[in-house]
Amino acid sequence: MKAPETEIQQAVDDPRLQLAIYTATRRLIDHRAGVVSDEVLPHYQDLRNEANAIKKHTIENLDYYLEQLESNVIAHGGNVVFCRTGQEAADFVLDLAKQRGVHMLVKSKSMTSEEIHFNERLEKHHLEAVETDLGEYILQLAHQRPYHIVAPALHLTRYDVADVFTKELGAENEVVIEKQTKFARGVLRQKFLQADIGVSGANFLIADSGAIVVVENEGNARLSTSAPKIHIAIAGIEKVIPRAQDLAVFLNLLGRSATGQPLTVYTSFLSGPRRATEIDGPDEFYLLLLDNGRTKLLEDPEKRQSLYCIRCGACLNHCPVYRKIGGHNYPWVYSGPIGAIITPQFHGVTEDTWLPFASSLCGACAEVCPVKIEIPKLLIKLREEVTEVQRRQGAGDLERFAFRLFAWIATHPKIYLLLASLGSLFFPIVPKIGPLKKWASQRSLPEPANQSFHQYWASRVAARRGSS
Ligand code: SF4
Repeated sequence: MKAPETEIQQAVDDPRLQLAIYTATRRLIDHRAGVVSDEVLPHYQDLRNEANAIKKHTIENLDYYLEQLESNVIAHGGNVVFCRTGQEAADFVLDLAKQRGVHMLVKSKSMTSEEIHFNERLEKHHLEAVETDLGEYILQLAHQRPYHIVAPALHLTRYDVADVFTKELGAENEVVIEKQTKFARGVLRQKFLQADIGVSGANFLIADSGAIVVVENEGNARLSTSAPKIHIAIAGIEKVIPRAQDLAVFLNLLGRSATGQPLTVYTSFLSGPRRATEIDGPDEFYLLLLDNGRTKLLEDPEKRQSLYCIRCGACLNHCPVYRKIGGHNYPWVYSGPIGAIITPQFHGVTEDTWLPFASSLCGACAEVCPVKIEIPKLLIKLREEVTEVQRRQGAGDLERFAFRLFAWIATHPKIYLLLASLGSLFFPIVPKIGPLKKWASQRSLPEPANQSFHQYWASRVAARRGSS
């Protein structure tokens, strides 16, 4: 698929949207910078190295840790279901809901469930899934997909939210954020009380204890996982980490990288259903471990590092491309630099071939990634793969010819100098030439110099000789 040029242009030309993206990402950048500085966290780089090493080790031994996780979840009275595809995960939930006579479930924020279009699959079978994270709830009402991994409604202003609540829920047109939040809380509280199934994602799965860990700021995940009778957690297989003590490394990094918090407000450790001596918690617990293409990524020793991602969103906030084109112009739920490397790997490099090229390769993403994924390196590798496929399909011949021609000219100085001087004469009309108009409209072209470098150098040498 080609890049959505019209939509990208609309996003770039929309001052309200540009301000919303810039303001939100700037705030996240500043907050992060405040909690990873040398003064505040002198061992920050050590933590990153450790996180990278733990992820590398886990991904290289994924089968072992998944089996360990499975047996420990079962030991706590839970159930583990391996799902090859999103459809298998949705089918499992639909069957369970049917068996238990459930018509509505509540959900806490989960990019994994977004990835498999979980809500849409359920709704086709008249099983209502209500998002309970405020941003996700607003987007569900607005029929939009997340704009950002961590801040899903980052692009909406409080005025947009007021419009959504009025249109979809008949609320007063309220623009005070606290009042909007209070209103949404009132609506959602009823949903928590009515739902018999709560669905969550998982930030980490601890193999040696069989616990799942969910981090959040709103408390809705805690309610979703404890109020309904059944808790279903859907997580990608790459979320597993070996030991409970490894968690200290990741919790130290995740909140800081995502929102600039030393720790998120709630960190829930959930291991199986409610025990006989406990008052709260579900009667049944299911962990759905999703592959959905992840094992395909394991094949390549270099590219498999994409599975280290802890979905902090820092690479999005720091990416000049994401900050300009926004989240909805990426073809999948994962946007920004992480989206640009995992989408082609999940969907194949022949789909959305433009994506690995949607980067300036400035390296900001790799600098801030808490698990040290070499995003620019992977982008270049994916570009090579796309180019190779296109070459085999006979595409890119013109570009190859142009570069060969340039190489020939550049190695023939007389011709090069002649063309360079002609080029500087014609340079001012470049923006007016038909096919180049669009290209030139996006750029500020510099004024050509009065003399070429060769002319400048020759005059400099002559002046020196004259003065000696
Ligand atoms: S690639 Fe790194 S920076 Fe980007 S979301 Fe994943 S963990 Fe965060």
